[in-house]
Amino acid sequence: MGLCRFCGKPAGFLRKEHRECREKHNSGVFIIRSMVADSLSNSVDRDEILKIARESYISNEELKNLILNGLDEAIDKALGDNILTQEEEEKIKIVLLKFGFGVDELSSSKTYEKFIKALILRDILEGKIPKRLDIKGVLPFNLLKNETPIWLFNDVKYYQLKTYRHYVGGSNGFSIRITKGVYYRMGDFRGYPVEETELTKVDEGVMCITDKHIYFGGRIKSFRISYDKIVSFTPYSDGIGIQRDSTNARPEYFITNDGWFTYNLVVNLANRG
Ligand SMILES: [Zn+2]
Repeated sequence: MGLCRFCGKPAGFLRKEHRECREKHNSGVFIIRSMVADSLSNSVDRDEILKIARESYISNEELKNLILNGLDEAIDKALGDNILTQEEEEKIKIVLLKFGFGVDELSSSKTYEKFIKALILRDILEGKIPKRLDIKGVLPFNLLKNETPIWLFNDVKYYQLKTYRHYVGGSNGFSIRITKGVYYRMGDFRGYPVEETELTKVDEGVMCITDKHIYFGGRIKSFRISYDKIVSFTPYSDGIGIQRDSTNARPEYFITNDGWFTYNLVVNLANRG
């Protein structure tokens, strides 16, 4: 006789769960997730959530994942029209605090990473140099004095266009007029990946974004580009394309797997001052 994986009581011959228990569990998951996803409009009632979790056989670990998933939804919703406001930031922090998330749990969370990215973009849009990056290990390049590293992308693929040719009808990305200090919505980045067939993969490595340069450090190539040497940026869902200010410079592409953040970050840094 197997035991129910939810309530722990005998579940019957060759059975691992009671149907009612599973349904109760699933509905608890749904309710908690929705409550947290709504936490920027309605404050989250911790006791209520803990009660639902208990009654729905949701373990502590599962609950924490659910809360992060719900927050992810809340952050996406907020980033759909604008960058996170101070008020929204506080509300998210309160939820994380209420459920006792530790530094380790957060540093490995994609949701928390997105949250920090949004705060970094807000800093830049407000004219501040963000200091939210804590680099562990040694960078494969030397930063200049008075230069602040703002973000580090790992496992970035670096491509160049196979043969140089002048664009007649534009590029594969979508075009955005550059204005000072503008946030480009998350939804704008859906479905415009870099078209890799046209490109040569040159290298793979680390890309560091500072307040003054874009650095790339790979196995074969390492370089630094000053923002004022870039004439155009092309947004993609998975990265960014740049064109350097030189007659025979080929378009270059960096696949960071987060076009929304890369584009907002780099374009707003380039337009500063
Ligand atoms: Zn059961």
